Amino acid sequence: LVRLEGVNKYFGDHHVLRDINLTVSRGEVVVVIGPSGGGKSTLCRTINRLEPIDSGTITFEGKPLPAEGKALARLRADVGMVFQSFNLFAHKTILENVTLGPIKVRKIPREQAERRAMELLERVGIAAHASKYPAQLSGGQQQRCAIARALAMDPKMILFDEPTSALDPEMVQEVLDVMIGLARDGMTMMVVTHEMGFARRAANRVVFMADGQIVEEGEPERFFTDPTTERAKDFLSKIL
Ligand code: ATP
Ligand code: MG
Repeated sequence: LVRLEGVNKYFGDHHVLRDINLTVSRGEVVVVIGPSGGGKSTLCRTINRLEPIDSGTITFEGKPLPAEGKALARLRADVGMVFQSFNLFAHKTILENVTLGPIKVRKIPREQAERRAMELLERVGIAAHASKYPAQLSGGQQQRCAIARALAMDPKMILFDEPTSALDPEMVQEVLDVMIGLARDGMTMMVVTHEMGFARRAANRVVFMADGQIVEEGEPERFFTDPTTERAKDFLSKIL
């Protein structure tokens, strides 16, 4: 579905992505882990072209990422994103947060968009809160709303950037459970997270990134129990 080949990205003279080669197939769940500043968020953001790259190629469904116009809007609709900080519209209700994109971007009639949004809110377990505003919900509920909002666009893939790291501990699992459900249903996902339990249960592959490079990748069980690189061993010893 997505292929990165020889991707390099600089912020000024800081080389933040170094010769990244990575493929994500349809239905695959890839977990990206690694130390702070290693380039994980930047990597995510290149895939829906929130960040342009300096060299290399990224293709989505075999075609190079569009730089502008309608094609870029379509790419952003096809590749959903869920952030650490929820990014819900504070002055819109939970239902409106979920229907806005489908109505404005996908041109779905309001009634149909609302019906679908209620199904999705049901699926993530917050249908009872549809007419409330984000501030009236817990962090875990807001993040589940953000996931419903991403799903409402019928994305081909969803990027998650540390979706549970801003949450109180007791709310982490409810969000991970929704994500595990998505993975089981075959959603293509790239997830930046240090939640090993999620990686073990849902990931097909773990990618370990440090200093802008993919240092090691592999099947989760193997990676966590027997990392091959010193860098990954060192990192895992600090977080486990
Ligand atoms: P964290 O675990 O802390 O979220 P990360 O692996 O997601 O880290 P990135 O946010 O991708 O890392 O950042 C990689 C490097 O690029 C860091 O050194 C960061 O300071 C730098 N960087 C990120 N965004 C920008 C920007 N917009 N302008 C300049 N430098 C940036
Ligand atoms: Mg980050």
